[in-house]
Amino acid sequence: MPWDTDIITYRRDLHKIPELGFQERQTHDYLVRTLKQMGLDPVELAGTGVMADIAGTRPGKTIAVRADIDGLPLDEETGLEFSSEHPGVMHACGHDGHMAIALGLAQRLSASRDFPGTVRVFFQPAEEKPPGGAPAMIAAGCLDGVDEVLGLHVWANDPVGTVGIRPGALMANADEFTIRVTGKGGHGSEPADTKDAVLIASQIVVNLQTIVSRRLNAFDAAVVSCGTIRSGVTFNIIAETAEITGTVRTLSAAVQQKIVREIGHIAETTAAMYDARAVLEYVYGYPAVINHAASVARLEQAFQGVVEIVHPDPAMGGEDFAYYLQERPGAFFFLGCQPDDAETFPHHSPHFLLNEKALPLGVEVLYRGVMSFLTA
Ligand code: MN
Repeated sequence: MPWDTDIITYRRDLHKIPELGFQERQTHDYLVRTLKQMGLDPVELAGTGVMADIAGTRPGKTIAVRADIDGLPLDEETGLEFSSEHPGVMHACGHDGHMAIALGLAQRLSASRDFPGTVRVFFQPAEEKPPGGAPAMIAAGCLDGVDEVLGLHVWANDPVGTVGIRPGALMANADEFTIRVTGKGGHGSEPADTKDAVLIASQIVVNLQTIVSRRLNAFDAAVVSCGTIRSGVTFNIIAETAEITGTVRTLSAAVQQKIVREIGHIAETTAAMYDARAVLEYVYGYPAVINHAASVARLEQAFQGVVEIVHPDPAMGGEDFAYYLQERPGAFFFLGCQPDDAETFPHHSPHFLLNEKALPLGVEVLYRGVMSFLTA
């Protein structure tokens, strides 16, 4: 089928021109040009976003498929012949693959419109960094008239030929926090006159690790990670201030709220033990990706015989696809893209490789996914 080979071209072309969130101008132009070559009429929205409707020959429902289009601020080190031509930017998460699959789907659907209803493909800027492009796309109307929405992510941990999907939470609430400790600085030889911010921040980091281990139900999944701790000037000065940053990953609002309260409580009371102060700033990131059970059940049926369905544990990463699922029924799933005979590198690694054999399978499962909805 022509799209099976064209999608490799699309992917490689797009891999060469990665752009950061909301700056995807060349990518946007490539998508518009390619969709027009298929006889489609793409529209621009949310800045660099693109959307195209493929109407079938008969009236019916509308289903949307989303692809994200942004790269990451990394220097590519894969050595691929179609490596990034943009210094400091790389498609290291596989969004080039998502675009190629969505283009392939559009190509396949526009080649034969013998189906009821409409399939909308939309290309969303800025997935990688909150606040994300999804809210802007929704505000610009990408879900207007849409009855269901689907999305996928290529997944390097799973082999080609698998789809990971589950009802309910698939990906996490991904939040960020900063704790600012204010003590009292002084001479390193005279600690009694000080309130040592390094010591207090260290105690806070240790105590935060008791939230998951001692404050949550054993069956509630969560992660509390401190990523940075900054304090101090030199070896013989006791630090006056310290700043801790970290991330919290949860799968439900109830657990999320409990952890917010616990972090604030631990920070404040630990600092109070030393007669110092700590203030929590908590920033909510992408909400959890919550798949709709009926959509998942239908997709699993539709994918039978094409891929092996696996039911993974939820991933504790975040995805702004979550916003679409707050607005419409639908589902998000993982498409295995592990390299056959090269080392597997994690997403966001400068060595990240995606197995292109996954791309035609992505078109096939999305085609079956949209058809199972439109013909139901
Ligand atoms: Mn991604």
